[in-house]
Amino acid sequence: MAVTATGCELTYCRMRGIMSVLTAFIKERKMGLNDIMHRLVSCPHMCPHNDVRGFLKIDENQNEELDGDFDTLCLNAPRSSLAEETALKPCDFDYLKIIGKGSFGKVLLARHKETSKYYAVKVLQKKVILKKKEQKHIMSERSVLLKNLKHPFLVGLHYSFQTTDKLYFVLDYVNGGELFYHLQRERVFLEPRARFYAAEIASALGYLHSLHIVYRDLKPENILLDSEGHIVLTDFGLCKEGLEPNRTTTTFCGTPEYLAPEVLQKQAYDHTVDWWCLGCVLYEMLYGLPPFYSRNTAEMYSNILNKTPILQPNMELKYHSFFSPINWDDLMDKKITPQFVPAVCGPTDLRHFDTEFTHLPVTSSVYTSDHLPVTNSVREAAGAFPGFSYVPSSDHGGH
Ligand code: AMP
Repeated sequence: MAVTATGCELTYCRMRGIMSVLTAFIKERKMGLNDIMHRLVSCPHMCPHNDVRGFLKIDENQNEELDGDFDTLCLNAPRSSLAEETALKPCDFDYLKIIGKGSFGKVLLARHKETSKYYAVKVLQKKVILKKKEQKHIMSERSVLLKNLKHPFLVGLHYSFQTTDKLYFVLDYVNGGELFYHLQRERVFLEPRARFYAAEIASALGYLHSLHIVYRDLKPENILLDSEGHIVLTDFGLCKEGLEPNRTTTTFCGTPEYLAPEVLQKQAYDHTVDWWCLGCVLYEMLYGLPPFYSRNTAEMYSNILNKTPILQPNMELKYHSFFSPINWDDLMDKKITPQFVPAVCGPTDLRHFDTEFTHLPVTSSVYTSDHLPVTNSVREAAGAFPGFSYVPSSDHGGH
């Protein structure tokens, strides 16, 4: 795969630079405005007019709704009788910061009140999931997360539980930042570092394949670094389970830059699409942009279809000469020292998370449930995820 599009690379880099300056500027302005609004709402003497205060509060609720939160602010709400009975509940945690956002909700840094342990809690809005008819993907994410427990490079699920209107995944808290974040800052990685990440990702994908799971959405945004510099794969929302050897599937999904030709052509495909994505990510780590990238999506798709890299048939990826310096047993035991260790001084050090999220206020809606009239749609949402909750068998509410 030769780098032929030098002009395109420059344009792409320049565009990234301009975008990051603009984004930082807008972010700063938004944070300033947010700060003023909060001060106005929380200090009666700064804004004595009830009409204005009322108006600002209405705005606040509207923002909540835009964020995907639909509840009113109600502290210490009792658990709804419609919710599944579980050992854990939202108010067992202190929610400290928002650290990320996905399609169905937020990811927060949270501390378990009893044990003081830190977790990343992914809070999903049932209403949004049902509206997009994504229940199957969420239950599949839960099921895959449960199988991840035994692998060093896959994020671990500690618990899952639900309220009437929300689903909660309590995950390992991984605070070295997204690979995307580091790649954006450093533009490219040197080959030993890229090889190390690719090897850890490959071993995680190989493990998923051995369980007949296809990951389907490998991209730098879904690859996190832990505090020691090891890879952790997150977001199993697009995984396909139960794909036995020699079987294929056809669902069109993934992220444009990393789509394999067979997915793009809506043909039957198998687990090898993950190796395609790994090749794209490895290329991006080494060259700074995905191999078929174009700002014009149609052109990018044409590149994917027509610029197929030549691969040796039946190549066992692990034995490729590129990986010859890797001892795979040492890799699995985390005995290979990462070339880069993210600087973090403790769990509350959020320097590797985007301030776009960490500066957002953590509203009480995260740990409270709606006081909704029990209508058919509320009843439907409440009961749409039977068996979602999970507590390890050795753990009955303790941690
Ligand atoms: P997701 O909805 O799983 O795609 O998560 C959205 C974002 O939240 C990710 O891109 C990460 O930046 C962040 N995130 C997700 N899971 C974790 C985790 N276990 N620890 C730290 N950050 C996370």
